[in-house]
Amino acid sequence: MKLDVGNLLYKGKAKDIYETNQSNRVIVKFRDDITAGDGEKKEVMGKKGYYNSIISAKLFLLLEDAGIKTQYLDLLEPGYMLCRHLEMIPLEVITRNVAAGSLISRFPFQDGQTFDPPLIQMDYKNDEYHDPMLNDDITLALGLATKEELQEIRRITLQINQVLKVFLESKGLLFPDFKIEYGRDHGGKLVLGDEISPDTCRFWDRETCDILDKDLFRMGEEGVIEAYQKVANIILDEKDKKRWNLDF
Ligand code: C5P
Repeated sequence: MKLDVGNLLYKGKAKDIYETNQSNRVIVKFRDDITAGDGEKKEVMGKKGYYNSIISAKLFLLLEDAGIKTQYLDLLEPGYMLCRHLEMIPLEVITRNVAAGSLISRFPFQDGQTFDPPLIQMDYKNDEYHDPMLNDDITLALGLATKEELQEIRRITLQINQVLKVFLESKGLLFPDFKIEYGRDHGGKLVLGDEISPDTCRFWDRETCDILDKDLFRMGEEGVIEAYQKVANIILDEKDKKRWNLDF
């Protein structure tokens, strides 16, 4: 690895954040832990961190190329990403192109109904309160973000959705919904953080309608890692595999 891993700064459900010798850079370690249902269902799946890190790196780079600022600086090796150090905003920003998951269990939408324009939902990232859905008044009253930041988050999120959707569809993947998180860099600027992976997105095979994401784990199905590997195989090209020395 090109950088020394320093002290652990933060341990999440699936990733660890380590200090580096530069205050504005951290190393994100993608772990093999997989959780669902507020962390109640938990397992370790070999190579999950590997696949999530390379899928995230590819999608962050794609967004950077489209002019969207992300935390991504480098994939040091699969599983370890060098990132900008961000002060994370505890918002789970969910974008929905198709009705699925919790949306259809909580509201009278039809399974598979499409949304154009897409729906943006923000949940409060807070385990103690079970990530409740927010509205702008509550977000502002809690001091989670400013009005300007909320507007900016919406604008960038729609742009991200568009870039990812076009790319994924060109690869034969449907993109029903996804969750992203933002942070502020040392200058206070909004930056896309966290990850974009089958842990945080729904990916469906356009031809077969096969599920290729964490829903398989949530439903107790087999083939979770095989699905993650398939997503990686579909979206990474030979150049990516050579650049990151990938062995699949
Ligand atoms: O559970 P729900 O259907 O609301 O999830 C919508 C999208 O957000 C899915 O892609 C899911 O993987 C993602 N999500 C997430 N982390 C959460 C909640 C949802 O990545 N805590």
